[in-house]
Order: sequence, then structure tokens, then C-alpha cells
Amino acid sequence: MNTLTLKPGKEKSLLRRHPWIYATGIDRVEGRAEPGATITVRAADGRFLAKAAYSPHSQIRARVWTFDENEPVDHALIKRRVATAVAHRRQWVSDSDAVRLVFGEADRLPGLVVDYYGAGRGAERAQLVCQFNAAGVEQWKDAIVQALIRETGCPNVYERSDAAVREREGLELVTGVLAGAEPDPELSVTEHGVRYYVDVRNGHKTGFYVDQRDNRKLVGDLAEGREVLNCFCYTGGFSLAALRGGAASVVSIDSSGDALKVAEGNVALNGYDAGRATWLDADVFKSLRQFRAEGRQFDLIVLDPPKFAPSAQHIDRAARAYKEINLVGMQLLRPGGLLFTYSCSGAIGMELFHKIVAGAATDARVDARILRRLSAGTDHPMLAAFPEGEYLKGLLLQRV
Ligand code: SAH
Repeated sequence: MNTLTLKPGKEKSLLRRHPWIYATGIDRVEGRAEPGATITVRAADGRFLAKAAYSPHSQIRARVWTFDENEPVDHALIKRRVATAVAHRRQWVSDSDAVRLVFGEADRLPGLVVDYYGAGRGAERAQLVCQFNAAGVEQWKDAIVQALIRETGCPNVYERSDAAVREREGLELVTGVLAGAEPDPELSVTEHGVRYYVDVRNGHKTGFYVDQRDNRKLVGDLAEGREVLNCFCYTGGFSLAALRGGAASVVSIDSSGDALKVAEGNVALNGYDAGRATWLDADVFKSLRQFRAEGRQFDLIVLDPPKFAPSAQHIDRAARAYKEINLVGMQLLRPGGLLFTYSCSGAIGMELFHKIVAGAATDARVDARILRRLSAGTDHPMLAAFPEGEYLKGLLLQRV
């Protein structure tokens, strides 16, 4: 029997049902636990705490499967967890066929991400894309894939386990077909009436930023007649939503030429007037300053940058970067204009993000009102005991 015993006092977070066991809290590991094996976690006094997946190479040394001593970690558990995750999305996600089906810890499948694309084409032609980001779910890969196929009716499963976090788990980066056919290079999804190409093989993450669905809708609903600037546009998520919403014009900036090509393809795919859209292959920091020097103004600006703080060590530098784009962004807004601003850095919480943006308004010498706090959609739920799951946070501001 594999057993992991914590140092005295280190059981507290587990008693609060936080699902991670850090290497620093461990007193000893007994048995011959291979990567991904199930291990029983005990407090220093020998009390049962949890059953977890062992990750010998990671600082997060184990991730909890269950806090119930009587719940076996077996195929049936995997099936149940996948079935519950899929049922949750059926109930909560509508008007889109790009859905986060499994969101790791929140679905009690730690380290697993699964996105589902293209149900509108019929389940047979849809595409599942998985990331196995921890040793436990890596070990149960076959069972997970079978359960996903059974629950969704979608036979096509592609693996995008090429995120850097895999290396911290001691796992190789791998991509490829796990079941069914090669992904359709013309695969597209429809979200709130807008069609988007999804490049499952080469796109970011699993191909599409599913997490911004509700926020793209909100931008679309508020775009009518406005001059829009979308910074860090990737394949044009917010830009297309704004075009559909009747924006007068949309300027979009990204430093990835490949993403911009897909974005232009999206305009054609929807039959929108390409004359309303301008795509700039450029650095956002430079472009914002240039626009300010030229006295350009906009009615609605979106700032959705990449993760500036990949971990807690990067918080200070990231805070300066967030502040800079928000500061100049606010100066480019006409009075009454709207700013949608986001951070997807897990290490920066909502309170800190709020403070950074407020500081940017002060230094920009503008009055700004916060109209809304924003987050990922309901297919990215958060475990109450696991605040780390809340990585995407945003604010909708209005320049007074
Ligand atoms: N808003 C998008 C997702 C943005 S992802 C959506 O809803 O789909 C972040 C994007 O920022 C990536 O496409 C990346 O190419 C781009 N990027 C990163 N650094 C940049 C920089 N300094 N200037 C311009 N684009 C940048």
C-alpha cells in the first residue's frame, strides 16, 4: 500500500478540502509509488485524509482524487467524474458549440482539460481536445478517453499535451490523435451566432479561448455604432463579436501573423464586410503608445493579454505591464467609452488586479467607473476550496 504521511500541522489545507499536497509538507512516502499511482495520504498522527495521484517529479507532489476512504479510485470513479462533468455543461452552456467539458480540479479530475468543438455539425463530426497536465490523469488516459467518447457520442479525440506545466510534472510534451479521425483543418464552431475557425493542431491551448465566451457576447451586445480597438486579438474572438454587434469599425492587434490570418478567414466565414476590420501585426505596447501620440480615440477597447505572471515570482513585473496597457488604454477612450480589461494570471487575484487598474486610471488622470466584474463562463467552475482555479478575471470600466 502506497502511503504519504504529512508533517505535523500540514493536514490543515486538506481538512479544508484543498486538493493539492505540496512536497514541502511531506514527512515520508512509503511503498513503491510510480508516477500517477494512487497513494493514501495520512496526517502525522496516521489519520486518513485522502486518496491522491502521486507526482514524484512535481512540487505539487500529489493531487486528491477523493476525501472519502470508502471511494475506490478505479475505472468507475473516472466514468462517474466524466459523466458528471458532461452533464453539468449540458445544463449550463447554451448557444455555443465550443465548450470546456472538463476543467481539472473543479471537476475533480485534477490536471485534466477537455474542450469540445463543433457539436453543431453532429456529434460524429465534432472534435474533443484533451490536455493531460498531471501524472494522475496521464495514468488514466485510456479510461478517460473511453468515458469521454461514451458520454458525448463524439468519436474524435485529439491530445494537446504540449503545455509547459507537463514538464514540471516530469511528463513529455505530446500531441496527436487519441481516437477517431485527424482533426478537420476547416473545423469551425458557432458561438452566439458567430462562426470561428478552430485550429486544434496548432492553435493556442486547445485551439480556441473558450473561457471568454460570455465576455465576447457582452462586447457584441455593446458594440453597435462604436469604434472598437481589440488588443491581443488572437484569431479575432472579440473582434468578430463586435462586428456582429454592429461596430462601426474594429482595429485588432496581435503579434502572431498566423493568428491574424485565421482572424481574417473568420471575417470571410461570417460574410462580414472586411472594410470594417483592420488587422495589425504589431506589438500592443508600441501600438498603444503610437495611437496616443497620434491622438487616436476609440469608443470600446478590449485588453486581453497573455498570462503576464506565469507564477508568483513574476507578479511585480506583470503588475507593471498590466498597468501600462491599462493606463494608455484609458487615455485612448473617448468620454463615455468602455474598457474591457482582463488578466488570466492565476497568481494575480481580483483584488490586486482591481488595484492595478485603479492605479492606471489615477496615473492616466481619468475618472473611470467600474460597471462590472467579469470572469470565465459557467463551464469553468471553481471549487470553493481551490481559489487557484479562478485564473481569468476582468473589469468593465467606463471613462466618465
Ligand atoms: N482575446 C483572445 C485571446 C488572447 S490570447 C480571444 O478571445 O480569442 C493572447 C494573444 O496575445 C495571443 O494571440 C498572442 O499572440 C498575443 N500577444 C502576446 N504578446 C503580445 C504583444 N506584446 N503584442 C501583441 N500581441 C501579443
